[in-house]
Amino acid sequence: MKIAPILLFLIWGGVLLGAGENTPLSGDWSRNLWDDDGLALISHGRRDCKKIALTIDDGWVPDEALLDFLEERGIRCTVFIPGKIIASRPDWIGRMDRMGFEICSHGYSHKLLPFLTEEEQEGEIGDTEREIRRLTGKAPKYLRPSGGRLDGPHPTLPVLRRLGYTAVLWENDVRGYSGAEPIENQLDWLWDHLQPGNIILSHFGESLHTRRVLEIWIPQVQALGYEFVTLSELAGDLER
Ligand SMILES: [Zn+2]
Repeated sequence: MKIAPILLFLIWGGVLLGAGENTPLSGDWSRNLWDDDGLALISHGRRDCKKIALTIDDGWVPDEALLDFLEERGIRCTVFIPGKIIASRPDWIGRMDRMGFEICSHGYSHKLLPFLTEEEQEGEIGDTEREIRRLTGKAPKYLRPSGGRLDGPHPTLPVLRRLGYTAVLWENDVRGYSGAEPIENQLDWLWDHLQPGNIILSHFGESLHTRRVLEIWIPQVQALGYEFVTLSELAGDLER
């Protein structure tokens, strides 16, 4: 089971972002959660077909080389970009939209959402949605919280559900958090945690070696019959 690594990521993510280290995480976010209105939280897709979703977060520096590589391989990804970056880089977002990427929400300012009031969280989510709609004409359905944090003084999941969003976490990742992780270790991690239905977390940024890892890994995993799909496609055939 993947519970331990996922919790480790979430704790690490919180520490890395410098907030909320002392707030215990609650809930088992490594499982998909459903409520009366549908899918409340997704961490993985179906296990019985070899579909996986590569997700890429942030984009503080536009990473055209990574997009060049993904375009070359015909890989469609799902990206979680803070609204303030979406607003300031319309050409970059437009390119991803034309490539068939799914453009999703990562809040507006990359603050840890559950440490904001519910009203502030709604502002972060609404402002980002407006930017995505303006650039792509589509309304986002998915949000990945900064640092993977949903719990805190003002839990984020109820806010998301009220606004019609599904929260997105992950169960495998490229581990490019600092650029210090050797590429070999990043590849080992990806292989160790690979299974059908993977949602894979990665980050934009040349210094994080995301492209160098994926250039090696993607052709190998495709050769095993894995197909890269968007998050909507991965979630579309999930059964409760
Ligand atoms: Zn982020």
